[in-house]
Formats: sequence, C-alpha cells, structure tokens
Amino acid sequence: MSSYDVIVIGAGPGGYVCAIRCAQLGMKVACVEGRETLGGTCLNVGCIPSKAMLHASHMLHEAQHNFAEMGLKGKAQSVDWKQMLAYKDKTIGQNTSGIEFLFKKNKIDWLKGWGSIPEAGKVKVGDDVHEAKHIIIASGSEPSSLPGVEIDEKTVVTSTGALELGKIPKTLAVIGAGVIGLELGSVYARLGSDVTVIEYLDGITPGMDAEIARQFQKMLTKQGLKFTLGAAVQGVTVKSNKATVTYQLRKDESEHTLVADTVLVATGRKPFTDGLGLDALGVEMSDRGQIKTDARYATNVSGIYAIGDAIDGPMLAHKAEDEGMAVAEGIAGQHPHVNYGVIPGVIYTHPEVGSVGETEETLKEQGRAYKVGKFPFMGNARAKANFSGEGFVKILVDATTDRILGAHIIGPMAGDLIHEICVAMEFGAAAEDLARTCHAHPTYSEAVREAALACGDGAIHA
Ligand code: FAD
Repeated sequence: MSSYDVIVIGAGPGGYVCAIRCAQLGMKVACVEGRETLGGTCLNVGCIPSKAMLHASHMLHEAQHNFAEMGLKGKAQSVDWKQMLAYKDKTIGQNTSGIEFLFKKNKIDWLKGWGSIPEAGKVKVGDDVHEAKHIIIASGSEPSSLPGVEIDEKTVVTSTGALELGKIPKTLAVIGAGVIGLELGSVYARLGSDVTVIEYLDGITPGMDAEIARQFQKMLTKQGLKFTLGAAVQGVTVKSNKATVTYQLRKDESEHTLVADTVLVATGRKPFTDGLGLDALGVEMSDRGQIKTDARYATNVSGIYAIGDAIDGPMLAHKAEDEGMAVAEGIAGQHPHVNYGVIPGVIYTHPEVGSVGETEETLKEQGRAYKVGKFPFMGNARAKANFSGEGFVKILVDATTDRILGAHIIGPMAGDLIHEICVAMEFGAAAEDLARTCHAHPTYSEAVREAALACGDGAIHA
C-alpha cells in the first residue's frame, strides 16, 4: 500500500492537468487510468484525433479546390485511407506519450488499471489499496445513444468508431447536429461521402447565437452536407451492412427512412462513473448522472472531489483542465476561481466557429439593452488572399457601458481569434478598448478590431 496526498482517478484533460498542478504545488500524487494510454477521451478518441482528421481532409479540400488557382499544378490528390488513419494514430501517440513524459517529470505515479473508492481516503486498483488524503474523480464521459439505436461501432458508430472506420462510407447518416456530428460529418463530406445530418430541433448547434448558426448551416450546405431538421429518429436497423434510419418529421408526424452505409450517432455524451463505488459511498448525484459538487469541487463526502465531464457544465476539455487546476490550488489553500461566463466554445470545421459569453438570444431573455458590432471577413485583406472571405465577427456589448458581453466568430481561425475577446472580457474591457488596440496588418485579427470599431463610430473597411 502506498500513501499519497492526492489520488486522481482518470487521466483525461481534467485529471492529468490536476495531477500535474498538485505535483507542482508540492503534493505527492498518483493518477489512476484504466486505458492503455494517458490523455482520456480528448487525446485518444476525441479532440485530438478529430482535429487530425479535420486537418487532413481540409488539406485535401485545399488541394482539390484552391491549389490550381494559386498556380500550384500537378496530379490531383487522392486518399490513402490507411495512411490517413496512421497519421491520426501517430498524432494521438505523440500527445499521449507527451503526458507520460510530463508525469515522469513531475514524479506522478501512474497507477495502471480501473480504480474504485472502497471508503473515503482509499483507492483500490486491482488488488492494491492506496491511501490518499484527497481523492479527485475525473472519470469523464461516454457517448449516449437513443432508444431503438444499437451501437455496433462498425455500421452504427459513435464518434469513437467514426474515427477508425474500415473504409470511407459512400453514404453517412449523422444523427445529431451538434459539434461532434458536424465536425465528423464535414470530415467525411470532404472525403467524398454523401452526408445527411438528421436533427430533432429545427436548427443546428443548439445554444449557439442563432444568426451564426443559420450562417453556419448555409456554409455547410454549400459544402455538400444535407440537413433534415425537426426529425425525431425512431430507430436504426442493420441488414447486409446497410443501415436504415427511421425518423418522424415533427411538423406533420410523417414517417421517413434513410439508408446509409454508416450511421454516426452524435446525440451527446453522459458522465461516466461506473465501477467507482459512488453509490455505496453515498456520493450525491444529479438526475442527469453527474456528480454533485460545491464551488470548490467537493462532493458531499469529505475528501472526495470531482471535476470535468463527470460534473455539471459544458463538456469541454479546457473546462475540465481549468477545474483540474482550480481543485488542486484549492486543496493547496489558494483561492482559485473558474469564470464560467468566459469559457469559449469552438467548432473546428472550415470555416471555424468560435463563441464566448452571451448570445443575442440570452441577452433578449435577460431583457438587457445591447449593441451589435459586426465585420465580414470579405473586408479583410488576408482572408480574401487565403480563400477565407466567408463569415464574420460579431461582438455584443452593453448598450450603455460598451462592456463586451459576448462574441461570435464564423470564419478563418475563429477558434484562435476568439481568445483575444476572452482576455478582453476577463479584464472587463469595453469594445472601445479592443478598437483602440493597434492590430498588425494583414491579419485575421483585424476583423475582430473592425467589429469592435463597429460597436462605436463604425468599421473602416465595411
Ligand atoms: P475524459 O477525457 O473522458 O477522461 C476520463 C478518463 O478517466 C478516461 O481516460 C477514462 O478511461 C478514465 N477513467 C474513468 N473511470 C476510471 C476508473 N474508474 N479508473 C481509472 N480510470 C478511469 N472538447 C474540447 O474542448 N475541444 C474539442 O475539440 C473536443 N472535441 C471532441 C471530439 C470528440 C469526438 C469527442 C468525443 C469529445 C470532444 N471534446 C472536445 C470533449 C472532450 O474530449 C471532453 O470534454 C474531455 O475529454 C473531458 O475531460 P475529462 O478529463 O473530464 O474526461
């Protein structure tokens, strides 16, 4: 038996970041992970592999559509699927082994296996029981499905199966028009699949600023994705390697079917807490299966904390990381704070979508007076040169004080550009503060400044 200050259960972005921060703060730390590699959902079957596939398929799109115009001639690229998957796997390997290196560097013990908590202060891994003053649960999440839809990870797949299909499907049905469904849907559309997205709601990406969501849907439609909205999926059947999706249109209750080589079920994720023994410990859970915590991430059982996808809040890697750092700092006696009002959300399609803070819809709900500053990438010289003139930056500010309340960007590098606005919001900045900051020319960032100018006397290049 070994004794630790902290044992973290789960080595995803929440858990591994927490373990590193605890070690940096002088604690003796172990991290339990049941997978063969560190990094959790994010590095193994989530953020990183999906971004590798988005990058590879975007490069193909560039070669097929834009190279000739720039005078880059040669044989059109074709896809070596096995090699593309090998590139994705290599990317995963580089990242997961990087975490292993960081664990060694920070003297964190990796307890390999599935952990449970037989009693507060103890963690069992295999036959070994370890002691810890503090236990942090960072056990993450798993894909959720729909009644009548059985996942086999071959024909009917979750995102995990979609990242390692045996071949590129000729037809792909995606159930769910959220971030994961649209990212992977656009990967396969670029690789030549005929992609149809079926969504229960009447719009895509619920929660996103509605104007941006409408523009996003138009752009994806132009790229070849088809959308069936307002459709309740009733079930999926598989026969001779073909799947049939049955759905009912909500507007008239008419029933329809769609046949596809592959069905991607992207209807969300649910917290994963199986095997931890939380029931027996009496750890309080929400109706949605999330571990309940207070503002310091403590559960109702003394010495047990929880973070990341296993608790309430957006299921995002960076949210889990911030909570990982915060819980470590709290245990060390510091006073950390995660600002849930400034957590960016990004969709890594092309163009990207980046959002932070309030949307027009939430501001209307609150009855708050606001102003909108917008700037199209068509007015940005760099974007035009790079075939990226589609989309716009939209900044929402308080009508009286000019303080930035939210921002939404659809366009090139939106996932990076959004952070300028996140920092501004953390400092309580007004749009004028951004507008008066000199921005290098020619950069995409100038579009952010122009949108900030548009909140006041007007953008220059619009
Ligand atoms: P996880 O990453 O799920 O890690 C939990 C770990 O705990 C797992 O490795 C699991 O094996 C381990 N574990 C669980 N129980 C035990 C146990 N009892 N004993 C030992 N080990 C255990 N988020 C973004 O921010 N950006 C993105 O671009 C993005 N893309 C995504 C794409 C896809 C396809 C998917 C599926 C997700 C994506 N996400 C993205 C979401 C992101 O992956 C999660 O929000 C993030 O991984 C949550 O981190 P976590 O540490 O809470 O849990």
